[in-house]
Amino acid sequence: MTVTVYCATTNPGKLREFRLAAERLGYEIAIEPLPGMASIPPVEETGETFKENAIQKAIYYSAHAPGPLFADDSGLEVDALGGAPGVRSARFAGKGATDEANNRLVLEKMRGVAQRTARFVCVIALAEKGRLLATFDGVVEGEILEEPRGPNGFGYDPLFYYPPFGCSFGEVSGERKLLVSHRGQALGRLLKFLSDRRG
Ligand code: IMP
Repeated sequence: MTVTVYCATTNPGKLREFRLAAERLGYEIAIEPLPGMASIPPVEETGETFKENAIQKAIYYSAHAPGPLFADDSGLEVDALGGAPGVRSARFAGKGATDEANNRLVLEKMRGVAQRTARFVCVIALAEKGRLLATFDGVVEGEILEEPRGPNGFGYDPLFYYPPFGCSFGEVSGERKLLVSHRGQALGRLLKFLSDRRG
């Protein structure tokens, strides 16, 4: 029997990646967007960490879901920028900023900087009826390029060079990225938990 888990995201890039990972990992778990999410007042992301924000969102939105729900918080941490953009990844260049504007700002701040190590981090929180069940995380290490490369993915993908692939996340397919990405790792852990829980 297929288990359904709801996902509190309005980001189609993320939903696509979650579904692809579930399919590739072979779990009989359907990931559905939270019905009517657009009409639920959004929760303020006030946490200082990815984990705090993921928990805040999962607890809040799960009260509106017909079953278990997960929320994720993710972003890019650049060592030379003291871990920024971090929890401000989506709004680094200002509220409602486009991916292009955020990428431009990172490149500007990194101009002439030799130390370019960075990582993507993802924390997923799972909750049911307003109660936290568990959290799962994933991290992938890479380097910030000097200019964007590749048309794929979303967010900071074109800036993120992944040494084992020898190219940026913007230059690989979604499937290839998910095998190693922060989101793929965290989701794999969530799916295993749901599958074990079902017994
Ligand atoms: P969130 O929706 O609050 O989790 O914000 C995530 C933001 O971090 C996105 O808008 C992107 O800017 C960035 N981000 C997170 N994961 C990825 C990824 O896999 N690739 C590129 N950018 C990402």
